[in-house]
Formats: sequence, C-alpha cells, structure tokens
Amino acid sequence: MERTVTLKLIGPTHHLDAQLESFRDACNTLVTHVESGTCRPNERLLQKQFLKETRARHGLMGQVAISAMRVVAGAYKTLATQRRNDVPTFREPRLQLLYRRGWRFKNDTLNISLPGVPGGLDYHAEASSPHVGMLLCATRIGAMNLVRRGPHYYAKITVILPDEPTYEPTGWYGVDAGIRTTAVARVDGESPVIFSGGALREHRKTQRRTRRRLQKKGTRSARRVQTRLCGREQRHVLDQCRVIAKHIVERARRERRGIKLEDLRHIRTGLRVPKAQRADRHAWAFRVLQTCVRLKAEDHGVPVLFVQPAYTSRTCPRCLDQHKANRKRDAFHCQRCGYQNHSDVVGATNISRRPGEPYTALGGVEVNRPHGHAMTRGRTECVAPAETASKPKQPLTLVGGR
Ligand SMILES: [Zn+2]
Repeated sequence: MERTVTLKLIGPTHHLDAQLESFRDACNTLVTHVESGTCRPNERLLQKQFLKETRARHGLMGQVAISAMRVVAGAYKTLATQRRNDVPTFREPRLQLLYRRGWRFKNDTLNISLPGVPGGLDYHAEASSPHVGMLLCATRIGAMNLVRRGPHYYAKITVILPDEPTYEPTGWYGVDAGIRTTAVARVDGESPVIFSGGALREHRKTQRRTRRRLQKKGTRSARRVQTRLCGREQRHVLDQCRVIAKHIVERARRERRGIKLEDLRHIRTGLRVPKAQRADRHAWAFRVLQTCVRLKAEDHGVPVLFVQPAYTSRTCPRCLDQHKANRKRDAFHCQRCGYQNHSDVVGATNISRRPGEPYTALGGVEVNRPHGHAMTRGRTECVAPAETASKPKQPLTLVGGR
C-alpha cells in the first residue's frame, strides 16, 4: 500500500521559494503547449520538444525540468482515467522530484540532498516517529513533493509499504456518509451504528460566519486573525473523520467484517443543489471520511470495497422499489410497501448489500495528504501518480528525527 511520509526541512530554505514557483510556472507553460496542440501530453514527447526551452525560460536544472514534464503528463493521465476534460492548472508553488533523480537521503540519515536544485545541497529533516517508522518499513521510495506551509517547507515522500494480510470477511458494513448525520455503518439485518453530524455541522457554520465577518471588516488586524484561523475548520473536520474512521474500522476488525463505501468520484461535478445548500455540500466531509476509513482499513487488513452509489438512499430494502418520493430528507417511507426508517440507515443497508470493487480497480488516483487543503476545497489540484525509481533498493537505515 501507498503512504505519504512528511518531513519538515530545517535550515535556510528561503532560496527554495523561487525554485518552487519556477516549477509551477514551468508546469503551466507546458500545459499551454499541450492545449495549443503543439505537443501531446506525453513525457517523452514533451522532453524532446521543450526540454531546452523549459530549462532556459524557467531556470530549472535538467532533472527538475524533466520532472515538470512528468507531472504534466501525469496530470493529463489522471484526468483521462477519471474521464474528465478539464485543463490541469497548477496553483500552489511546489516541486516534485523522483528518488535518486533529483533528491536523496544523505548517508542513511534523515538529511535530504537536493542536487537538482541550485544551492539546495543539504537539509536536516524532522519527522514524527510514525513517519520515520514508515520510512524504515518502506519497500520502495518514490517521488517527493516539496511544498510550503506558512514559513516552513515540507517534503512529502511517497513510500510503498508491504500490504497487511486481509481476512475473508463474515459480512459487510455498509457505510453511508451524509450531510445531516456524518456517517451510518450497518451490517444488513443488524442494528445500525450512527455517528451524528450535528456538532460538526454547527462547528462549520460558526467558522463560516466568523470568516464572513472578518472578510467584511477588512482591517489589518482582521486579516491577521484570518491568517490564524486559516485551516482550522479543515483540521477539525479531518480530526472528526479520523475518530469516526477509527471506530468503524476497529469494530469491523473485531467482528471480522469488511467495509463497503460508495464510489463517489463524480459527485462534485454531477450535483446540482440550491445555492443556500451549496457551501454545506461542498464542504461536505464525505471525501475526507472515505479516505480516512480506507487508509485505516488498509493499515489493519480490513477488506474494503466500493459500490455504485446510484439510488442507495431511495431504494426500499424490503421491496426494492426505487421511487423518488420514497425519501424525504431524513425520512425514508416506501410508497409501495410502507417500510419506514432513517434514510441514511436505508442507504447504509443498500450499500452493504451491493457488489463492490476494490479501490485499485477504480483507476482514480487519490493522494493521501495529511495537511491537504485540496481535500475539502474542491479545487482541481493535479497530482501525478506516484512513480518510483527503478533502481534496486538499497537497505535504508535511518538515524535522527525526533
Ligand atoms: Zn418497499
């Protein structure tokens, strides 16, 4: 399985700013070339045609320029597998490099060298112990994304860990993530486990109100408070989701059961909702919750499948009637046989019954971003699929860290 290890770079990093911006600009320039029809979004072809130009125009060294091409080609590939026609845009300054091609660990310590970046020789890096542990267990080390959060730089490194052995489940929990209730988990025929969403929704509403007030005020001190609050809501949502995911996964493992989730890849583009509800829907934490459940389940060897989401909350579990009027907000009332229940419980029941596919079969690339802003903001952030260096792996012994 794939995980992201985050290392914090210590030391003078100010000169990295310009490199990260150049890298982003280079990616966007390459996208304009592709869009103008000069070149197909293929790493080789881009290199052949634009390597010299990219290096000269954006002041990048060879490996870094090639990496920009790989990122652009990867972004197009991701959009194609998701059957989307958007033009990739790169907003955040960042830098992606492959292991041993542009970056490496120095002398088996946590220190990072960036020979591909002018002046970027050695950085001392810090990591929390779970992250150091993941590095030590890694069978392969892949790409590194260098990003800036506030005054600090973080290296986000893709690692491949050995898979936890899974078991043959004796039943499946259907998990329905909703707006009113955050999540309902149910094994068909048993009583449901309900995680109420009231507190979370209230928290989000308060935060939104505060933000609106500060934006209106527009003074310097208001902006200072805005900076401080930035990301607080997302951290809160992420924390809540982790707590719920932990409950669901631990329960499933104890009972030797699997977990079924809705395959909600297209929901953001497919939904049309009234404007008043939009903020609520878009900030909806379903994506985050799903990712948390999936990752935690993989960590503990709990099998996870994804099912088709169509009509899960309006199909009657008793007579299979799919009439639209069966569901009115929280209440499910079958128009044909009279069955009644909470609509999210009905959703979870239907999910647990449907046949599903493993995550790897979905083809979409989703990236585990522990500090990810893109997760909840609904923007098109393009991330290339993790690629790994092809050289045979040397045993990596690390010292240092915290
Ligand atoms: Zn019915």
